[in-house]
Amino acid sequence: MSNLDPENWDHIRVLGHRMLDEMLDNIRTVEQQPVWQPPPHAVRTLFQTASLPQTGVDLEALYQQFIEHVVPYAVGNRHPRFMGWVHGGGTAQGMLADMLAAGLNANVGGRNHMPVDVEHMVIRWAAELFGFPQTTTGLLTSGSSMANFVALLTACRAMAGTEIRQKGVGGRLLVGYACESAHGYIPRAFDMAGLGIQALRYVPADRHFKMDITALKQRIAVDRAQGLEPFVIIGTAGTVNVGTIDPLEALADLAAEEKLWFHVDGAFGAMAQLSKEYAPLLRGIERADSLAFDFHKWTQVPYDAGCVLIRHSECQAKTFAQSLDYLSREDRGLAALAGESPWFCDLGPELSRGFRALKVWFALAGFGTEALGEVVERSCVVAHYLETRVYTLPWLELMAPVVLNIVCFRVVVPQVKDLDHFNAELVKDLHESGVAAPSTTKIEGHVVIRVAIVNHRTTERDIDILLEALHSLAFARINSLKEVK
Ligand SMILES: *Cc1c(COP(=O)(O)O)cnc(C)c1O
Repeated sequence: MSNLDPENWDHIRVLGHRMLDEMLDNIRTVEQQPVWQPPPHAVRTLFQTASLPQTGVDLEALYQQFIEHVVPYAVGNRHPRFMGWVHGGGTAQGMLADMLAAGLNANVGGRNHMPVDVEHMVIRWAAELFGFPQTTTGLLTSGSSMANFVALLTACRAMAGTEIRQKGVGGRLLVGYACESAHGYIPRAFDMAGLGIQALRYVPADRHFKMDITALKQRIAVDRAQGLEPFVIIGTAGTVNVGTIDPLEALADLAAEEKLWFHVDGAFGAMAQLSKEYAPLLRGIERADSLAFDFHKWTQVPYDAGCVLIRHSECQAKTFAQSLDYLSREDRGLAALAGESPWFCDLGPELSRGFRALKVWFALAGFGTEALGEVVERSCVVAHYLETRVYTLPWLELMAPVVLNIVCFRVVVPQVKDLDHFNAELVKDLHESGVAAPSTTKIEGHVVIRVAIVNHRTTERDIDILLEALHSLAFARINSLKEVK
């Protein structure tokens, strides 16, 4: 064998078509499979004990292992009754786009080729969607965690000076603000940026689960009086727990007044912008200095695809660009800029980067913003359907307002004293039943069942099936409690 290309192209063509057919069928029939099933011990052991292969095996044999040992035990987020956390459902079209991108094997860190332009195009579309100026810069990332990190680092260097890149943060006491309901990866971004987790000041939520503006103002004043250097306010559009949206307009006003950078973590919630009905809830997002959001959640692009937008054209490159001889930019040829924009490696931490932009392009152009907006609206309709059913069922209690697509509730029955434990166990029962997979969270100290409708395949019927399963599992559990006594 002289290189790694297939020895027999006809064989691989046949096998490739079979793989494609089988995966398309697998997606089409996903509802007939359990949402999730635990990987059997024997399967786990196979992978835990597999040694580094010295000689290769046939691709068909590997594919067989994938089919038997991986596919049945995947996370389950393609299934319409996967309702946990915030996971997108993916699409067959997205799978094809990812396959084409892998076939092209483009490195989109920079240089003069069309995949770079495709990423610029989807960044420009995203900027337009959110009412950002044409000069906005941006980057596709692995997700909102990385997008938030890129934005935070950019905010820090824009506000506190780029000499930090040479000297480090040193003794400067730079601080930022987010609501206590902000995502757990916001403090991680402060940590990774070298600012320290304590540099993130948590502001309490008001009774609507939104950042309390008065408390935020006070906190900034106290910090300034103590000689700290506030530099950023972080609002969340769609909190993970409840799906609430911080008062973005008021935050934008305050950031302007206090001369602070205004960042919005819109991981899934920002996509409400695609819906005419829900977009008004996000008013103020168009004034953010930076925005992080995901294409792999509500927009159903296959993992992974997040995005960061930075309003001010110079800031992102000033944060990340370096001049390295072997990466020098020429006036023409492959090492030239593609158009006017900097290379993507100048806008984030990574040099080599894949062609994520292709699947984002195919999703935005293939479905169009209207159909994607309808997915958002339908999810909210299904969530409100669940809300209504929770109201009408005496054994269920709603635990938070339903703003977008997240419903937090719990089973409340007089026979059960420890509701936290009971509801947590019930969710595990549900997962193991394979019927539905919501998650849990804590609301005001109580463990609750949390249903997030993100998958474009989920309908009201899935809610009925969820509630039926929940009812029978709950009462089976209550009966077994009685028997023990
Ligand atoms: C999902 C989420 C994140 C993290 O994004 P990833 O895409 O998982 O990296 C951050 N913030 C919020 C509000 C989220 O929902």
